[in-house]
Amino acid sequence: MTGELTRRALLHGLGAAGGAGAMLAAMGALGLVPGSQSHAFRAPQPGDFSLTGRSPKRVVVLGAGIAGLATAYELRKAGYDVTILEAAKKVGGRNLTLRGGDEITEIGGVTQEAGFRDGTYFNAGPARIAQWMITMDYCRELGVPLEIFVNSNADAYVHTGGKSVRYRTARADTYGYLGELLAKATNQGALDADLTAADKTNLLDLLREFGQLGEQFTYEGGERRANTGPIPSVSEVLGYRIPQALFWDLAHDQAMPMFQPVGGMDRIVDALAANVGRHRIKTNTPATRITDNGREVVVEYKNGSIKADFCVATLPPHVLARIPGSLPPEVVQSLGSGFNFSGSKLGLEYGRRWWELDEDIYGGTTETDLDIRTIWYPSHGFHERRGLLVGYYHLLDQADSYDALAPAARLERALKEGEKVHGPRYRKDLLSSISMSWRKRPHIEGMFTAGLQGGLLEQAHGRVYLAGDWLTDLVAWQAGAFESARKAVLLIHERALKEN
Ligand SMILES: Cc1cc2nc3c(=O)[nH]c(=O)nc-3n(C[C@H](O)[C@H](O)[C@H](O)COP(=O)(O)OP(=O)(O)OC[C@H]3O[C@@H](n4cnc5c(N)ncnc54)[C@H](O)[C@@H]3O)c2cc1C
Repeated sequence: MTGELTRRALLHGLGAAGGAGAMLAAMGALGLVPGSQSHAFRAPQPGDFSLTGRSPKRVVVLGAGIAGLATAYELRKAGYDVTILEAAKKVGGRNLTLRGGDEITEIGGVTQEAGFRDGTYFNAGPARIAQWMITMDYCRELGVPLEIFVNSNADAYVHTGGKSVRYRTARADTYGYLGELLAKATNQGALDADLTAADKTNLLDLLREFGQLGEQFTYEGGERRANTGPIPSVSEVLGYRIPQALFWDLAHDQAMPMFQPVGGMDRIVDALAANVGRHRIKTNTPATRITDNGREVVVEYKNGSIKADFCVATLPPHVLARIPGSLPPEVVQSLGSGFNFSGSKLGLEYGRRWWELDEDIYGGTTETDLDIRTIWYPSHGFHERRGLLVGYYHLLDQADSYDALAPAARLERALKEGEKVHGPRYRKDLLSSISMSWRKRPHIEGMFTAGLQGGLLEQAHGRVYLAGDWLTDLVAWQAGAFESARKAVLLIHERALKEN
């Protein structure tokens, strides 16, 4: 997720698509109430079986995204016989890191090859991890080294109304004028009915600090804005059309410090897959039918089938809903009831790190009112020669409008927009680029799904269990996928310890 703007857009999208009911359901699912994730988890262990005289069961996992891999990883630790079927030729699902030579083919047949030089990578899906997420626990346990992900940077820009203002300056001016106006209202008695005299004194003290106000509680600029030109008028500041750009990094899931795996987000995938055992993962093997006959589950795929005691299906819900078999109709209906978001990202590799050399920007993002929405600067490789920017990261209508274009046209449009922020250097040292449309990603067909209806999705359906970020409060976070995997694993283990 990308902060308040995304949440806002998401709710807007849900409101348009599913009405108020869907919107309210999604607000819970989006964790709009501040929360955190429980780190308490007792992983099933091989020793659990010797206590019961039973032996570990066979489990077939469908999908090798984070949810599928984490399910298999936890079950393997306890000795289960696990096989993963993955439709794509690569494991990881939405956790996708592209490097030079990697190819992506979209639904519709358009193929792009990443032309990146050695050492350049592009996290086309997830890119950041908040410190309270259980994704951190898995990185620790799997030995995946982490580094800081610079999520917000006071020296990046807010670009609105055709102007770029340093983030620190835009914030200082906004806080300054808000402080001044509230101090004025307080001193003119507008809050007398709400505040005691002592409250008013305390509020004025607070506002003086909040806005860096002068003696007379007026905003006259200050060191926070870093002498970046004349102070704009209050009307200009109130006219910033993207107020969320000033506060998004206060969100619970966006606040610094945030982290990224050294070398690419798919280091998590690699570590999980290595621990599961690559020989247990069948790629290029889409499941085509799931049948639960009461004693076991049979999963069919092209030229074969596999039988297991349990199945854990971790496919995106709208994809799973299309797979024939024995899932009850109300479950299938529930799987298809969510709102599936489009989302797109553009990777731009440059031969010169001009944002560091010419603009003193080391990581973070520029938020804009342009249709690229945001530009991300890299959080690693500082002072190296080359580097990769994220040239757009957006969803819904903006994503759809770029997705509709051929890759070369997407690039051209994004460069034109980016030039409005950074001028001609935005185009000058470009070496290569690749655009990722999640709506057009085979077997995934969207960035994330939220607002599923019905309480059926967290239960076992006979011998079939479900997992995926869409089953948790942490939709569109790997932490949600991990959490759902843990839930499925615990349910299966509890049952396996009882069943003959
Ligand atoms: C653009 C973007 C940005 C994101 N940003 C972040 C971020 O910064 N931080 C973060 O933590 N998370 C982020 N996320 C969310 C994160 O990527 C997901 O929450 C997580 O990867 C979901 O894992 P999953 O296993 O539930 O689903 P998926 O990764 O979707 O896995 C489902 C798997 O099922 C496979 N499959 C489909 N059909 C079949 C079939 N018939 N048979 C077998 N297999 C099949 C698919 O190929 C896929 O591998 C982002 C996601 C996107 C797209």
